[in-house]
Amino acid sequence: MSTRIARTNSKQNTEQTATAEQKPEQNKTQNTKQNYHQHTEQDTTKKKLALEIIKRLKTAYPDADCTLDYDDAWKLLVSVRLAAQCTDARVNIVVKSLYEKYPDIASLAAADVNDIEAIVHPCGLGNSKARDISACMKKLHYEFRDKVPDDFVTLLSLPGVGRKSANLIMGDVFGKPAIVTDTHCIRLTNRMGLVDNIKEPKKVEMALWKIIPPDEGNSFCHRLVCHGRDICTARTKPHCEQCVLADICMKNI
Ligand code: SF4
Repeated sequence: MSTRIARTNSKQNTEQTATAEQKPEQNKTQNTKQNYHQHTEQDTTKKKLALEIIKRLKTAYPDADCTLDYDDAWKLLVSVRLAAQCTDARVNIVVKSLYEKYPDIASLAAADVNDIEAIVHPCGLGNSKARDISACMKKLHYEFRDKVPDDFVTLLSLPGVGRKSANLIMGDVFGKPAIVTDTHCIRLTNRMGLVDNIKEPKKVEMALWKIIPPDEGNSFCHRLVCHGRDICTARTKPHCEQCVLADICMKNI
């Protein structure tokens, strides 16, 4: 899958990013590991549940991966912005036209925002998405020499990039610990009993750092997307009778 190509390209980013910029991410990684190792009795119970859920979902979805197509880190940044309130399938179609016209960061940074909007409008929220993409590509081009930064805090400084997107880039592109709290993650971890009635994405992320082994977080979140689409669905009653987690899930529905 294209992810590998992006990770290869990312090595250049890793080498290029200034030492000063790496410090926040180093700290964050250390913090996430500390979070996992500092626990209460309640965390220990949830950790055991989490490990069993991770094991079973690995068996159920061995090949779970990012469903956005990309072959370079900056394209995943574009796609994840377009994916807000839009399906990944539609984003994958729309970006083909975008990259035909603008094949690199420099050309997209130089593009007129209205021209970007004309292409991305099928994804919805075309105006704000086009503005964010344009501003993000400009910043990458002029401040980062066309390289996507490989630390969490600097990623958050890019226009249109929030914690969910920054975690996705850290995990999928750079292979670092990541917890992507999208709608599936929030719904499923609450239902399963891994978090207790927490709906705010950052709070869910912080609660999960305490109980999910850092190296498992990224693939765990991809598997939650698969499980959320197939079994633990949002729009219909979840199909608990078909679920591999039925006997251990808290079923907080
Ligand atoms: S048992 Fe039901 S609520 Fe729990 S994860 Fe499975 S489908 Fe979702």
